[in-house]
Parts: sequence; structure tokens; C-alpha cells
Amino acid sequence: MVSNPFIIVYFLGILIGSIIRVKYTKPYKDNKIKTDHKTIIDKILMTLPGIGMFILPLLYVSSSWFDFAGYNLPQWAGWIGIALFVLMLWMLWRSHYDLRSNWAPSLQIMENHLLVTHGVYKYVRHPMYAAHLLWGIAQPLLLQNWIVGLSMLVTLLPLYFYRIPREERMMLDHFGEKYRNYMGQTDRIILPMRKLK
Ligand code: SAH
Repeated sequence: MVSNPFIIVYFLGILIGSIIRVKYTKPYKDNKIKTDHKTIIDKILMTLPGIGMFILPLLYVSSSWFDFAGYNLPQWAGWIGIALFVLMLWMLWRSHYDLRSNWAPSLQIMENHLLVTHGVYKYVRHPMYAAHLLWGIAQPLLLQNWIVGLSMLVTLLPLYFYRIPREERMMLDHFGEKYRNYMGQTDRIILPMRKLK
């Protein structure tokens, strides 16, 4: 039985994150794909974070395989991990909420696809990927193990670097000037400083 509160929070986060994802998969499934830009590499890279965020953490709590790689952080580090995880869940929810039927899990343009520039998309172009990065940063604070703590970040980064330029290319090809202007007003991941002025 797991009694470490940080590990419990981690798995609670997975549960809440999955509920958000399942809820917003419905409008995607009800919609039709107009053009599909998904590649085989994208498909393979998409499966990796599942290993880093779920499979390895599950093995970590159900076996002693990774015990040799454990470390102990002070209590406050775990609390920072919880705060980051809560922020991550909010961003994950908010980005799905803002995109709604314009969301696709991969590189796809849907029927009647609208360019979303409101909500969190007013500030950054990739809040959903930013949420996943936050997850990767919070994980080593919650699961204090060199292998399992870093597994999300290591399995996410290849997808992140592959996907973002291709997604922006696809959006530029489809939305043209509109997306170019939007790019001029936003940053990829980090809130632009000019918005804070
Ligand atoms: N990169 C975004 C969305 C990830 S989901 C983020 O991190 O928040 C990926 C899909 O969402 C893309 O294939 C595209 O279909 C859609 N998408 C991305 N940005 C969008 C936007 N600003 N407006 C409408 N759809 C968008």
C-alpha cells in the first residue's frame, strides 16, 4: 500500500488528467478530419510519454525494480511538485476547454476548423504542450527516483521538438496570414514579457 502523499498526488493527477482528456476526446470523435498530417514518426513519438508518465510510475509503486535509483528531497520540494502539478492540470483543462472541437490529438485539421486565439491561446501557442512540460518538471519532485522521476521529460522531449515546428507549418499552410499574425502576437510556450507590461 502506497503511503507517500506525493506519490498519491501523482496518481490522483493522472486520474484527473485522464478524465479531462476523455471528456474532450468526444467532440474530436464527433467531428470529421479534413486533412491528416500525422506521420509514422509522430505516431511512434506519441506513444512514448505514456511509458514515462504511466507505465514506469506504475512499475515503480508495484515493484522494487527501481529502488536502487531512489533519492530523497526535502519536504518543501514535494510541495513545489504538488503546486506545479495543480498548475499543470489547470493548463491541461483550460487548453482543452479553449480548443474544444478544434482540438486534435495529432497533426490534423478538422472540418470547420477555427483558429483559437482566446483564453490561454491569447498568450502562448502551445499551452497544452506547456502543461505536459510542467508535468515532466513536477514528476521528479513527486516521484523521487532518477529513472522514474525523469521518465516523462525524457519521453516527452523528442515529441515536443518534432511536433511543434510541424504543427506551426500545418497551421500556417491552413490559416495563412491569420496564423502568421497570431504568431507575431504570441510566444510558443512562455508568456511573452511584452504581455506583462
Ligand atoms: N499545440 C497546441 C495544441 C495541441 S493539440 C497546444 O499545445 O496547446 C494539436 C492540435 O490542435 C493541432 O494538430 C491542431 O489541429 C490544433 N490546434 C493547435 N493550435 C490551435 C489553435 N490555435 N487553434 C485551433 N486549433 C489549434
